[in-house]
Amino acid sequence: MTIGWHFNNTYSKLSDTFREEIKPIPVNNPDLVILNESLASELNLDFSKIDKQELSKIFSGNTLPIGSNSIAQAYAGHQFGHFTMLGDGRAVLIGEHTTKSNKRYDIQFKGSGKTAFSRNGDGRAALGPMLREYIISEAMNSLKIPTTRSLAVVKTGENIQREEILQGAVLTRVASSHIRVGTFQYIAARQKKDELKTLLDYTIDRHYPEIKNSSSQALDLLNLLIEKQSNLVVNWMRVGFIHGVMNTDNMTISGETIDYGPCAFMDTYDPKTVFSSIDQMGRYAYCNQPVITKWNLARFAECLVPLIDKDQDKAVKIATETINSFEKKYEEKWINMMRDKLGLFGLDDKDKFLILDLLTWMHEKKADYTNTFCHLMNLAPKKDELFNDNNFNNWKKRWEERLSKNDASPKKCLELMKNNNPLIIPRNQKVEEALEAAEKNNLKPFNNLVEILKNPYIQKDDTLDYQIPSNSDKKYQTFCGT
Ligand code: AMP
Ligand code: MG
Repeated sequence: MTIGWHFNNTYSKLSDTFREEIKPIPVNNPDLVILNESLASELNLDFSKIDKQELSKIFSGNTLPIGSNSIAQAYAGHQFGHFTMLGDGRAVLIGEHTTKSNKRYDIQFKGSGKTAFSRNGDGRAALGPMLREYIISEAMNSLKIPTTRSLAVVKTGENIQREEILQGAVLTRVASSHIRVGTFQYIAARQKKDELKTLLDYTIDRHYPEIKNSSSQALDLLNLLIEKQSNLVVNWMRVGFIHGVMNTDNMTISGETIDYGPCAFMDTYDPKTVFSSIDQMGRYAYCNQPVITKWNLARFAECLVPLIDKDQDKAVKIATETINSFEKKYEEKWINMMRDKLGLFGLDDKDKFLILDLLTWMHEKKADYTNTFCHLMNLAPKKDELFNDNNFNNWKKRWEERLSKNDASPKKCLELMKNNNPLIIPRNQKVEEALEAAEKNNLKPFNNLVEILKNPYIQKDDTLDYQIPSNSDKKYQTFCGT
């Protein structure tokens, strides 16, 4: 029985500074909850001939595949603005699997027991948050947003103590790497230039070979990350995704969304939306995400200073100028993204006002973010009286005038809109329903939701129920769920 694992581990070969060698701590009674078969096949892995008991052992870490060399990675991070030494406190990277097309993926177990970096934590994870990460990360992938993936979730058969007693679980996370801004911060804080150069070289080899021969590698890497992360946050803004905990340890160098803790999607359009119960100041509110992206990139730039130029003043000046290019780049990408959402081709000086006026109207009227764009595409789940409104109709006339100036057919405009406006997002009440039922061993709502979220841009009869905004008046709150 060959599954097709093909490990070729490189991070574990770096020095002790970067990682601790450690095995997942075996669990009592592992029980597979879900296996992502389509992801497995993308990875050229075949689990079809393995029985459930064996799968449960594999995805709990009770048995490790041949070729794995498991480690916990060291990193630091600014958490809500405060610098802390962190590291994989409840995760192990079991190895780097390479596919037939030579793509390399980290295979990581989250919730796999204590490591040298656990501090006061128990190294474990709860079922609800791991299933939540599964739902949202896979939804993000289907929304065509760069993200880590979820290959499997296993219940451990062990209880864990949080505010209440919860079922333990392990998530298998797949990522193009787990190198974070915080990884650079950890190494930079040690002030050993050779270690920093090792991390830079490793990162370039793994993610950005195109700058391998550059004479300004560090600066090029900074520019590349600005590009990747501005694209990422524009995508989040496009679909109303709120990450919730954009600490620098939760920002990858690959440009993938990572660490789905208190994240959620916005229903009613309000730029100040915050879901996370611990984000009291709204640091990571919807509208702050671009600002925080820049802030995190500035922390990344600080790490690179010793490698940008031997003359520190000069290096700081270059890094600062580079970081300050963020706003202009972001703004341009954001307007273009909003043009796509509105089906607008070409540029018009007045586009920005057209876009902002719609958003202002949505905010005033407490319109649903996703469904407003569905309404404009005539794909709303139901008729909404909200749109029988003079201000909206005046705006719509301006929009239609602008559309008529498009150098493209109405069909093309609609196609552009359909490719950029999801009909189905993981609605908060649907996610909660799925998790609550799964907690009680009923996986039907979870499986249905995961299935529906695979095609967020296509309307079918059975999707209507998933397009309705959360009806609760209570403010939805998420918890950092560990
Ligand atoms: P997160 O909020 O998931 O990004 O985690 C922040 C840091 O806390 C990371 O270093 C995690 O490894 C660590 N951590 C979170 N939960 C636990 C836990 N239950 N046991 C040990 N470490 C944890
Ligand atoms: Mg994290």
